[in-house]
Amino acid sequence: MRRLSFVFVVLLAPASVFAQSVAAPAGADLQPTAPPVIKTFDLTAMDTTADPCADFYQYACGNWMKNNPIPSDQVRWVRSFSLLRERNRYLLWQELDAAAKDPKTSLQKQYGDFYASCMDTDTIEKRGIAPIETSWQMIAELKDAKGIPALLGDLENHGAPEGFFRFYVAQDEKDSSKQIAQLLQDGISLPDRDYYIVDNPHFAEIRSQYIEHIKRMFALAGDTTSQAAQEAAAVMEIETAMAKASMSRTDLREPANRYHIYALADLARLTPDYDWATYFHAIGIGRFDTLNVATPDFFKALNGLLVSTPLESWKSYLRWQVLHGQAEDLPKAFFDENFAFFDKTLTGQEVPLARWKQCSTMTDRALGEAVGQDWVKQNFPPAAKDSMDKLVVALEKALGDDIKTLPWMSDETKKAAEEKLAMIRNKIGYPEKWKDYSSVKVNRGQLIENLHHVAVFDRNYNLHKLGEPVDEKEWGMTPPTVNAYYSQSFNDINFPAGILQPPFFDANADPAVNFGGIGVVIGHEMTHGFDDKGAQFDGNGNLRQWQTDADLKAFRQRTECIADEYSGFQTAPAKGDAPAQNLNGHLTLGENSADNGGLRIAYAALLDTLAQDHKSIDDKIDGFTEAQRYFISFAQVWCQNQTDGWARQAALVDPHSA
Ligand SMILES: [Zn+2]
Repeated sequence: MRRLSFVFVVLLAPASVFAQSVAAPAGADLQPTAPPVIKTFDLTAMDTTADPCADFYQYACGNWMKNNPIPSDQVRWVRSFSLLRERNRYLLWQELDAAAKDPKTSLQKQYGDFYASCMDTDTIEKRGIAPIETSWQMIAELKDAKGIPALLGDLENHGAPEGFFRFYVAQDEKDSSKQIAQLLQDGISLPDRDYYIVDNPHFAEIRSQYIEHIKRMFALAGDTTSQAAQEAAAVMEIETAMAKASMSRTDLREPANRYHIYALADLARLTPDYDWATYFHAIGIGRFDTLNVATPDFFKALNGLLVSTPLESWKSYLRWQVLHGQAEDLPKAFFDENFAFFDKTLTGQEVPLARWKQCSTMTDRALGEAVGQDWVKQNFPPAAKDSMDKLVVALEKALGDDIKTLPWMSDETKKAAEEKLAMIRNKIGYPEKWKDYSSVKVNRGQLIENLHHVAVFDRNYNLHKLGEPVDEKEWGMTPPTVNAYYSQSFNDINFPAGILQPPFFDANADPAVNFGGIGVVIGHEMTHGFDDKGAQFDGNGNLRQWQTDADLKAFRQRTECIADEYSGFQTAPAKGDAPAQNLNGHLTLGENSADNGGLRIAYAALLDTLAQDHKSIDDKIDGFTEAQRYFISFAQVWCQNQTDGWARQAALVDPHSA
């Protein structure tokens, strides 16, 4: 639940499934064991009794799915992402464990101490809720709603989560060379606004269980039964009002919907009862005159709430944000209660991750570029970067050739598309310049304080970007991450060292297997520059129409076709009081476009590569042609099992359909 600045980038896979909760000494894999290197092109994963022309997924993945049920500490188990994440995390753990025991450098001392503070459950138990009492004391002293802006500033300066909204600095979507202040809706604790709004027995049941959960959490923290009931009712009322005022995820994807430049005077007119000057002063941001208010309706409604909601309700809401936002960092009773509702009830996860896994992930999230410096030395050979450079060039050429052949697009638009493609920059492996965390204080035995220091560091790092030139070398993912992203404002594609490993990439595999793995990933990220959202930005990362009107119209007809297709796919059948759940074709449109585009252009790049080497797509290795190996390799990246609960939640919150 750490709050990082919200910048719109598109990931290869959802971050949330794998960034699961922290703490509790239960769970699978209590003792760290080394996971093996994952096989590329795995014949044993296949179900060769299935007809590949009737059910290709079953053919490529059937045996794997049968033999790899979801581990009890997971909600989704993917042959590529999950297995590689487990492996990278283990390698990370080795580094953290050694640093905690015998640090050799000041960096190792810092991340070793951080990791140790997370592993020290005895101290966490002994301290109880003392580490959050400073925040609660600040809230207790609130005199009236007018004091909320100053209080939010104080909580942020302390590093505590406080809900409400997100304020951060990011590139201006219409002028990517400028970094401006931005305001965005936030403030709810359930995974999506639908959980508060949708009127059916399934969500009604979740809501009533959520209220019971809030009551139990407050009771654990010392409330009487009636106090807890009162506080839970207040939290639910405020969060429901915030949910109703929120823009849907699907609408939020549309850049025009979230671009509203306000002068400060206009912001004051939008929300006359929230004193922004006090808040901005409290958080110590530099001077500015205009900002982007991504979701004005939300802030207008928030202003109404500030006027109509009793002071005691606000206090309960803020107390909840602090307690809920750090539940995983508190003693076991709090962790377990949080896990029981947010993980077990909502997603079907049976047991929490083992402590060492949680603390490894937490340290990576907190001090990723500190730990990552040592991680890449051990785990990312320079040869991998050279191979990636070659693959990227092959994919760029294939996409360029593909654009040239489009029968419906005018020459004028093709030329503009090729210009944008040529301007895409590539970042591979890890940052050239690492973040300097030397100002972050880390103490053993003080997990929550350490997290607060990191939150303040991240917040200040972000706020200092105001008005500064854009740092094009900055990374949005840590080196061990098994994921990739495209940023429309940077117009760049980013591949952390963590994903440049088997089964995505294997220096010893034949080209068909690598093009079906990492090649499709590269193609996916490049296609994001031209999906329904990415295509609205030009090569400089500015929101600007560069297509002719007729081409844009023809493009939209085609993307609508993809949206319709995916809306027809069911992700979970009717079960108990839960109705059948379909994908949302518009929420997932960008990812589905990228998946389809990536698969198409990586195949074209493979054909080019084989032609250069005087090989044929029909050549066989181990009984399979190059073409067959390509598609099997691609399919095996996506062999997976997932819980019913996760499938339902993901359909509402995840822009990825797979
Ligand atoms: Zn993507």
